[in-house]
Amino acid sequence: MTAPFGMGPGNTVDIGIFDSRGHEFVEAPGFRGWSGTAKREFFIAPDCATPGYIRGPLFPGEWNVMLGVDRIQPAGARDDVTVTLTTEANELHHTTEPATTLLPARPEALVGRAEYDSPIPATTPRHGRWLRGDLHCHTVHSDGLNSVEDIVRHAVNLGLDFLAVTDHNTTTHHEELDRLSSFLEGPITLIPGEEVTTYWGHANTWGLREWVDFRCGDEESMRSLQRWVREKGAMLSINHPKCVGPPWLFEGWDGFPAMEVWQAPWRFYNWESLERWDGLLRQGERVVAVGGSDTHSIPPAPPRHPHGLAEPTTWVFVDGSATPSLPARPEVLVGRAERSTDEGAILDAIRKGHVFVSDAPNGAHLILTADEDGDGRFEKMMGDTVEAPEGKPVDFRVQVRGGMDRRLWLISDGVPIDIIPLSHVDTDYRFSLEPAGRSYLRAELRGYRGRPERGEVIWAMTNPIWLQATPRRSAASAPDEARVRL
Ligand SMILES: [Zn+2]
Ligand SMILES: [Zn+2]
Repeated sequence: MTAPFGMGPGNTVDIGIFDSRGHEFVEAPGFRGWSGTAKREFFIAPDCATPGYIRGPLFPGEWNVMLGVDRIQPAGARDDVTVTLTTEANELHHTTEPATTLLPARPEALVGRAEYDSPIPATTPRHGRWLRGDLHCHTVHSDGLNSVEDIVRHAVNLGLDFLAVTDHNTTTHHEELDRLSSFLEGPITLIPGEEVTTYWGHANTWGLREWVDFRCGDEESMRSLQRWVREKGAMLSINHPKCVGPPWLFEGWDGFPAMEVWQAPWRFYNWESLERWDGLLRQGERVVAVGGSDTHSIPPAPPRHPHGLAEPTTWVFVDGSATPSLPARPEVLVGRAERSTDEGAILDAIRKGHVFVSDAPNGAHLILTADEDGDGRFEKMMGDTVEAPEGKPVDFRVQVRGGMDRRLWLISDGVPIDIIPLSHVDTDYRFSLEPAGRSYLRAELRGYRGRPERGEVIWAMTNPIWLQATPRRSAASAPDEARVRL
């Protein structure tokens, strides 16, 4: 057990455990924890356990240690597993990390939050608001270096509206998230997640309050898992599909409702993920692009990767019904949520593709909308489908913040159809496009980061608006219709 997961040479053998209630694939009632290579030892007791492992009754019967063989050098490897049973559980505790974080009765740091620096200058004629958050991070419950509370406090200080904590192959952080949520007066929605971490690729689930199996080693088992997650009403989102991801090695790419197209700072090989995603869009796969920082450590823990929480930030538009407190034509509200927004509404927005991704919580904004019926209101947005008769151009609008000295790319069916240099911080760019012959339109904000010779990066990107041209009514059919009406 010498190499961390997916990195460097050496042998990698992971570990986890099932109790006597069963270890069947896809639904194993006996799952009691997994730590991969992050921990060399763990304990389980009735009242506490190593983070990543589930405390509780020590059911009598046959337990199974689960060893995951990621890589073994040709010379082979010797892997010893030592099991110690004791009635004095405390004897073991000093060798492990604390089982849980002890919260103060009412942690002050979790109540306040940073104010937004500025709102998006954009409006759409829809009720709702933009919320910003991070969909991917880790804690001591897997291979992260911080407690759940540390990560949540940091997210609150960044002003995030939501945070999904997605430890690898375990759910023991969920209880901590729910406990923290009960302390918060609503500034942030904490979403329990899991990074389903297989040796052939990683995928996030959000909002499922039960363990999701990760023992997929072939196409069939991944399909079974996809079905299982779908039947639970949840999503599987392919993570970091790029060479250093680790990559997605399953052949099946279809049927995943979302994909982490942007993981960590853009320069970390995200062009590869973007190309993969755009290829799926060209095939008509309506997979929603999301971002995830994949943060494993924040100060004061030593840095492990150059990943900062909410870098990138995923923005979701949460629909809200009209209320008397809203003006007749409410503007999109970007800003502090007055109360915790329901986790289900955030996940629903992701499912619909009402999402754009940007570099940071106070970074660029990019919103693509369309006026489907030509009434001057841009009522369709990213993730929606615009239907228009053949030959009738549709008006589109891109609202940009952070555009100064950057370029707006408009992309349809894998091809840039326009590249617009921007010279202002805020831009409201409008244009018309005929949907016929096109299946989607999306936007990117590109620009230099540092010296020009380093090339451009993406500062923000939208999900596509899907386009559908309806056949024009033929001249011959018009009289018939008129007769019917008469
Ligand atoms: Zn991963
Ligand atoms: Zn991760």
